[in-house]
Amino acid sequence: LNRPALRDALRAIVGERHTLCEAADMKSYLADWRGAYAGSALAVVRPGSTREVSEVVRACARAGAPVVPQGGNTGMCGGAAPDTDGHSVVVALGRMNRVRAVDPLNNAMTVEAGCVLEAAQRAAQEAGRLFPLSLAAQGSCQIGGNLATNAGGINVLRYGNTRDLVLGIEVVLPDGEIWNGLRALRKDNRGYDLKNLFIGSEGTLGIITAAVLKLFPAAPQRATAMVALDDPAQAVALLAALQAACGATLCAFELIGRKCLDLVLRHRDAARDPFSANHPWYVLLELAAGDSATGLREGLEQAIAAAMEKGQLVDAVLASSLAQAAALWQLRETIPEATVANGPAFRSDIAVSTADVPAFIEAAREALRTRHPGSEMLCFGHLGDGNLHFNATSPPAADDWPRGVADTVYPLVERFHGSFSAEHGVGQAKRAELVRYKDAAEIALMRRIKSALDPAGLMNPGKVL
Ligand SMILES: Cc1cc2nc3c(=O)[nH]c(=O)nc-3n(C[C@H](O)[C@H](O)[C@H](O)COP(=O)(O)OP(=O)(O)OC[C@H]3O[C@@H](n4cnc5c(N)ncnc54)[C@H](O)[C@@H]3O)c2cc1C
Repeated sequence: LNRPALRDALRAIVGERHTLCEAADMKSYLADWRGAYAGSALAVVRPGSTREVSEVVRACARAGAPVVPQGGNTGMCGGAAPDTDGHSVVVALGRMNRVRAVDPLNNAMTVEAGCVLEAAQRAAQEAGRLFPLSLAAQGSCQIGGNLATNAGGINVLRYGNTRDLVLGIEVVLPDGEIWNGLRALRKDNRGYDLKNLFIGSEGTLGIITAAVLKLFPAAPQRATAMVALDDPAQAVALLAALQAACGATLCAFELIGRKCLDLVLRHRDAARDPFSANHPWYVLLELAAGDSATGLREGLEQAIAAAMEKGQLVDAVLASSLAQAAALWQLRETIPEATVANGPAFRSDIAVSTADVPAFIEAAREALRTRHPGSEMLCFGHLGDGNLHFNATSPPAADDWPRGVADTVYPLVERFHGSFSAEHGVGQAKRAELVRYKDAAEIALMRRIKSALDPAGLMNPGKVL
């Protein structure tokens, strides 16, 4: 690898200002936000157009340099951090942040990969539409990263994962060729659905440079409630009851364990417990509807009263103002930060069928108690999708931590026919789990796809496979 020659070639493509080679300038691009993965790079480049991305990738392919695509760098699995060899070129998409077009009549918008999620949501809102992808990192994560990780978030229950929100994409392939698949069609059965190969591929098959996203009717009316429960089984019964009573207006249903709420209350001075007594479990839920819908809040009140009568919940707080709703959401959204501040923990992002959530939590809690005494369960997540962040604090002295807990929790997930990675992906963090728990035929197919599209293995090597 001729490092000076490649750096010169990159400078000629994206300009001196956008080719970072000094350690201090590259620093924030080389480690993930938790500081769990840190690497080094030959350069960080910040291209301003699809054409520049293509030329950068071509130059790297010619030189034999690995390419690491990077969005907002908020990923949970170290997928956007280069390895420690120092040969990689990090391609940071942040300058490609334009909303190219919004088409309210077709309920679609075309945005560049570096567009921050919140900016994409705003552009939809300004056109009287909703782009429903929503997660706590939305002020920093980018559309390209969202697609590359097939992000989930709090509205999957009603609108699906990122994959379900994409009509078309534009990708720079590992040899530098540009595939313009920016179609805004709802129906297109001309052969294989290639866009879905790239969505969720974590930058291992190409660099996504733009996407056509689906828009939905705006849903400005909200009814938000937090309910207190004795156990997760009540939560599953309540979910079914609310879906029956409120239909598609139910868009979020988040489970919160007491220990998580405790950490948030300790971490954030302004946070208040909405209930006067302690409860072991909570659900934060939200209904949303268009301006002309009537009785959203009243409907929720009635459904909650009926559920209480049936013993599906213990207590409830309905937000009476936008500020109160925001304060309830603040409790939920502070959990990741509060648990990181609390110290070392085993963190997972698992999925089982929603109906199995109570049995899974019980089995995992019991396994923690017997095999990892002193460790405390920190459980929260998107219950409406069967997706839990089943985390656990580190006990004072445990030499196999957190590997030991992974070996306790993931086999249980397997027993429930679940997934060890529901929304965060594989990255560097869960490659061993992929080999251990995914079907061998499926992994072999993935390897064949990878080597067909990226025969030199230069696109985000060491990630996923
Ligand atoms: C507080 C907090 C809350 C979160 N909540 C959720 C949640 O509820 N649901 C959820 O799913 N995730 C959540 N995440 C994880 C994270 O925000 C998502 O994975 C997000 O989609 C990553 O986007 P990013 O732009 O930061 O990607 P990055 O971290 O930069 O990259 C992630 C992966 O995508 C690849 N990549 C990035 N951009 C491109 C591109 N243009 N083309 C090809 N590959 C690319 C990278 O190589 C890497 O493998 C949360 C993170 C934080 C910090």
